[in-house]
Amino acid sequence: NESKIPMPLSNVEKRCAVTPSSVQRLVKKGAELHIESGAGLLSGYADKEYVDVGGIIIDDVNSALSTADMLVSVNKPAGSQLSVMKKGAIVVGHLDPFFEQPLVESIANKGLTAISVEMIPRSSRAQKMDALSSQASLAGYVMVMQAANYLPSILPMMMTPSGTIKPAKVFIIGAGVAGLQAIATAKRLGANVLAYDTRPVVAEQVESLGGKFLKIDIGETGQTKDGYAKELTDEQKAKQQDAQRDAIADSDIVITTAQLFGRKPPVLISKDTLALMKPGSVVVDMAAQSGGNVEGSVAGEVAKVNGVTVIGTGNWSQAVARAATDMYANNIYNLVDEFYNTESNTFGLNLEDDILKGCVIAHDGAITNEMLTNAYK
Ligand code: NAD
Repeated sequence: NESKIPMPLSNVEKRCAVTPSSVQRLVKKGAELHIESGAGLLSGYADKEYVDVGGIIIDDVNSALSTADMLVSVNKPAGSQLSVMKKGAIVVGHLDPFFEQPLVESIANKGLTAISVEMIPRSSRAQKMDALSSQASLAGYVMVMQAANYLPSILPMMMTPSGTIKPAKVFIIGAGVAGLQAIATAKRLGANVLAYDTRPVVAEQVESLGGKFLKIDIGETGQTKDGYAKELTDEQKAKQQDAQRDAIADSDIVITTAQLFGRKPPVLISKDTLALMKPGSVVVDMAAQSGGNVEGSVAGEVAKVNGVTVIGTGNWSQAVARAATDMYANNIYNLVDEFYNTESNTFGLNLEDDILKGCVIAHDGAITNEMLTNAYK
């Protein structure tokens, strides 16, 4: 009864860490930018556009890396790239440090400095560098668009002489950065939107976007000092699943965005609950690639489970690679700009600074972030 639908997105990274605009601003500051030939193509930027603003296009990445002070990329660097970099150079990107212990250790052992964009604090000052948020906002939008494409109906109400189509019912579980953007997008398309989050403080935000907040009494929940959800007890998890069952069965689209920082995401929808949905309904599991909120979702794929389409493609922001690149490149520019020393033309690594204290995870031969050293024990 289960089958797979061909995957609409490829796994090739489409985003780039710099745009012609960010290169222009960095060159103006005094930096020399070497950009791998073709790096911007899949997000819509040709080599020539980088050259026109002072960037230098290169084919031989390893040779450029051997003299570089900083390597900026979207994802993790390859081991072969790290091995040619000079001691003290800085590596910046989505390093996925909780799940990439060997990589972080090898960066530290090579005497390189690692900046993990996932570890940038969620503070007002760091908002302009917050790549998790920029990419999650786009993910929220993309997940609704993909769900709408698979749904054999429409999202808005349509009243015509041929009959009336009722608005689609969309249920969003997890109302953080991605969830709130998904609520706003589904509302703009005319759907009826219901949402739930274990942090009751977000109820007001859901309602301000025109969504309805599902009230579930699961007792004390709360959030960490950084605003992340705390893990629920087994009893609370069971209560949440029970209370959500009717809403899920009644929905045309369910989008799950629940994450737990540094840990596997919670399972929110069981196969039994999925079986209660109407055939043709669509579920999007944002967390499919990191363990899954939905039983039966397949990482990187779109699956059919009992007639329900379950989208687990992941890499959501890549579906809008140009917008994702524009935002990520701005995040990176803002990070470099904040700490740039114009006299020495270098990145000023002030490890007493609150932002760098959070996101510099390896430096001078050691892993420097306490959350990670605890997680690696
Ligand atoms: P996230 O990706 O870690 O999780 C997404 C959402 O899932 C969160 O709202 C979380 O509460 C929710 N969730 C977790 N377990 C759940 C469950 N069992 N059922 C339902 N929902 C569940 O979160 P995020 O989007 O990265 O945001 C984390 C926090 O950081 C939020 O409070 C957000 O407002 C805050 N934030 C602050 C800033 C800033 O001040 N600069 C920037 C971005 C985010």
